[in-house]
Amino acid sequence: MIDKDALVLVTGAGGFIGGHLVADLIERGFRRIRAVDRKPFEDWHQLFQGVDNRVRDLALKECCDDVCAGTNAIFNLAADMGGMGFIETHKAECMLSVLISTHMLTAARDAGTERFFYSSSACVYAADRQTEADVVPLAEHMAYPAMPEDGYGWEKLFSERMCRHFHEDYGLVTRVARYHNVYGPHGTYEGGREKAPAAICRKVIEAVQSGRNSIEIWGDGEQTRSFTYISECVLGTQMIMNSDIGEPLNLGSEELVTINQLVDIVEDIAGVRLKRVYNLDAPKGVRGRNSDNSLILEKLGWAPSVHLRDGMEQTYRWIHDRIAGVQPRVADRIAV
Ligand code: NAD
Repeated sequence: MIDKDALVLVTGAGGFIGGHLVADLIERGFRRIRAVDRKPFEDWHQLFQGVDNRVRDLALKECCDDVCAGTNAIFNLAADMGGMGFIETHKAECMLSVLISTHMLTAARDAGTERFFYSSSACVYAADRQTEADVVPLAEHMAYPAMPEDGYGWEKLFSERMCRHFHEDYGLVTRVARYHNVYGPHGTYEGGREKAPAAICRKVIEAVQSGRNSIEIWGDGEQTRSFTYISECVLGTQMIMNSDIGEPLNLGSEELVTINQLVDIVEDIAGVRLKRVYNLDAPKGVRGRNSDNSLILEKLGWAPSVHLRDGMEQTYRWIHDRIAGVQPRVADRIAV
């Protein structure tokens, strides 16, 4: 277990998962937290007092050296990422996150950091394993032979591999989670980087508010996915970080739904039925993707279990309150 007095660094702390992770570390009693992101503070999803918050571009080696100095543990979440609409159209930009992974690993090694967590993705899995909606759940070994998601997935797989070799060659203790579609309050829901759960919530809310009563769905809606609620992602991240498991572990739900079923859930929460307009030219990603949790269950005796309906209820309410103007749309500042 990481000591409560350890200096813990979270990169990508201005983003969705990073913000929740900082909140969780504070709640667990960590006293020395450093939070870093490239974005100006006003764009951070959550910002906490009592934390060493810094704006730095971690694609630059000198910034990585600066923020890693003195750290005992690092959660490296910084990456250029978004939903399918973003990663299918920004492949080079996604691959440039390799600068962050490379400089952060070398800086952590040089700083003598004890533990390094890397947030990988289900996008590392080979495309030919995900061609059917009725998909065989993805077990960790299925990332090879490699044919990951173009751009973003290749970078994630390469960086996973670097973590492994930094351990073998330099003794840096590395831990890797493969996140599967994380969603929840404080996530991006507009602007082009949002993922399906938040995008569908926003579209349903806008359809109701405008009286349009129709919703655009990307693809035919029969593509399948599983979605992981943010609290489970954060808990699993801490468990994996504190474990003795050096190999990548899936961190995802096994509750498989079609996108049409996800829309059903959001319509139920909103109490509406909308006309569905299918945009077959929009980015769709793979046909089917689900997490196989056998390994995390075997190694940690735990796997995510929050039902999609319950998580979506929280997510919908949070997005609704921002769009309706009940709560401010900008960063939530929480005093600690
Ligand atoms: P996010 O986009 O909300 O957060 C990532 C943060 O990294 C952003 O705030 C961004 O400004 C920051 N960043 C990007 N480039 C940077 C740089 N050069 N220097 C400093 N900061 C930089 O994304 P998220 O959903 O919180 O994801 C966190 C991590 O988890 C990412 O590595 C992502 O690839 C991974 N992941 C997320 C999901 C998901 O469903 N959200 C799924 C799989 C993997």
